[in-house]
Amino acid sequence: MFRSAVLLIVARTTSSHSLRSSFARVPTTSTRAFSRQAAFSTHPILRRHTHHHEFPEETKRHCPSCSTLLPTPLPVCPNCKHIEPLPSDMGYHEMFGFTYEPNPFDIDISALRPRFRKAITVVHPDRWAGRDEGKEQLIQSLSTTLNNANRTLADPLQRALYILKREGVITDGENIVDDPELIMDVMESREAIENAETQEEVNQIRKENQEKVEESVHEISKLVAVKDWSGVLTAATKLKYLRGIDDAAREWPRSLHDH
Ligand SMILES: [Zn+2]
Repeated sequence: MFRSAVLLIVARTTSSHSLRSSFARVPTTSTRAFSRQAAFSTHPILRRHTHHHEFPEETKRHCPSCSTLLPTPLPVCPNCKHIEPLPSDMGYHEMFGFTYEPNPFDIDISALRPRFRKAITVVHPDRWAGRDEGKEQLIQSLSTTLNNANRTLADPLQRALYILKREGVITDGENIVDDPELIMDVMESREAIENAETQEEVNQIRKENQEKVEESVHEISKLVAVKDWSGVLTAATKLKYLRGIDDAAREWPRSLHDH
């Protein structure tokens, strides 16, 4: 009956130190890593005011091939079609010109969408058609990575899980996090949804649940700020449960017949 209550696939590793993150530790600015690894020259930081939706000037480089200022932090030049693989320590934040420190959870979401659009245009396959196969493959994989990065950063739960992976706290494996208190909460909420007789009742449950979701997101932000990773994992787990409750409420009354 409560089969979907057991919905967690948050991975927890018993020994976080035994597992290394697949990401190298990120330097204070991606500029340094990028110029070191990819040999792009560093663009002098311009002091002029830039709209926050644009990529910050200090995250852009000059193309090593034609010296053009690149439109994004990506090692991709639309002018001369020079392209390099992503530096190994360029994570999702750096791709969009966000700084990982001091709080990788608190990013300017309103800047994400316009920056994503700009970056995805730069790697559009049509602009690279007819280039050599290696370049086309690089463009294809960059495009996939950008899409994943955008989806991940845009969603608070996915963003929290990404940060936990980057910090080496969890892996991609699937493990159930046992939290009896959370399981009781979610069962009670689901029972309330199943016993609801009107849409208004369900709406009220959703509203209360939404408030808990917001609290939970706020909590994650505070815990990331102090690098309390086990706390972040617990809070992310809770957020995932709350999402499950919202899904069930949204499906009401159809969810009644699924059992
Ligand atoms: Zn170029």
